[in-house]
Amino acid sequence: MGAIYLLEGVVRNYDWGGHSFLPHLLRIDNTAKKPFAEYWMGTHSQGMAHIVDQKGNRITLHELGVSLPYLLKVLDVKEMLSIQVHPTREAAIREFALENRVGISLDSPTRNYKDQNHKPELMVALGPFWLLHGFKPADQLKTIFETIPEFSPLKNIWESEGNQVLYQLVMEMPQQDVNGMLDPLLSRLQQEDASAPFTKDNPAFWALRAAQLYGNKGNIDRGIFSIYFFNLVSMKEGEAIFQDAGIPHAYLEGQNVEIMANSDNVLRGGLTSKHIDVTALLKHTRCVGIRPEVMRISDSNGAPAWFSTPVDDFKLGQLFMRKHEKYQLQGMGPLILLLLKGSVELAWSSSLATLKQGQLAAFWDGEGTLHLQADQDTTLFLATSAIHRGE
Ligand SMILES: [Zn+2]
Repeated sequence: MGAIYLLEGVVRNYDWGGHSFLPHLLRIDNTAKKPFAEYWMGTHSQGMAHIVDQKGNRITLHELGVSLPYLLKVLDVKEMLSIQVHPTREAAIREFALENRVGISLDSPTRNYKDQNHKPELMVALGPFWLLHGFKPADQLKTIFETIPEFSPLKNIWESEGNQVLYQLVMEMPQQDVNGMLDPLLSRLQQEDASAPFTKDNPAFWALRAAQLYGNKGNIDRGIFSIYFFNLVSMKEGEAIFQDAGIPHAYLEGQNVEIMANSDNVLRGGLTSKHIDVTALLKHTRCVGIRPEVMRISDSNGAPAWFSTPVDDFKLGQLFMRKHEKYQLQGMGPLILLLLKGSVELAWSSSLATLKQGQLAAFWDGEGTLHLQADQDTTLFLATSAIHRGE
């Protein structure tokens, strides 16, 4: 298929999404004020991208026989998302078969494993972005226990038994005890916040926001413990972070471009009204303390910079082009281009197209050279499962 396909993804209107970022990017009218949470670009059954042919027909990638190993997304996180962990591929295969055997249907709200794949994720911040990512290193957890008096009943357990036992304890604690520990904490934080408001680099800011969003019927969400136990990470535009199997994480606020293996396997650990399976969660959570590795790419001088990850399901790159600048890409494997800003002319054998803000182009065929020329200063994301060589 020696042609450039202009692609359209699928908007997901989850209620945690913002109202203007994605409508602006995609140039969609949102006078109805719907939340635009995610824009999916891939071949996932819950959100299949399509092309529009010369006659105006919409043809899904599925109908074209295209199946991508990755799913590319743009997210606008206005309200924090659930704390979650994703299984390894081996665990997903095993547990998917097990849930089939015991007869939990695929669309059941208590079904944990929707497919047999892992779901490593790489995200690039499009502006200031806040998230939780993995357990804090021991020295930082020690500080938490020294400065949060309401957690003092947990301190000895953590010191003698470590992160895993601590986490199991708070995740399995009766709701009454969760309320008993978090209620005094939240009351104190509310008072302090009233006299001097907390800033976003303080877990207290997010604990108060979580209590406001998820406190249903006096039952305080136990995810608030994790806000203190996990690394609170602040990212700037262009910075990236990789979330491997077992790393607990939660997006708190901001916009990003995210790429992941094509899977829906999510185990939740709080800040949600959805199903939480504590046994399954604990089985897959890596409780060891980590220091988050935030990756930065410097100005790539007109060549794509690829973010490095240990997985082969996807590669994500960013290409900045100045006005009139040219670039050539040698294709290998399915490639999606997402234009975030600017405008670029594309040429591939005899096929020509102009890509503008919020638009996508796709290439399946490994043969040939893709020519790009920027009409304006342009920012592009490249998603693929193989590195594309430049010339
Ligand atoms: Zn995730």
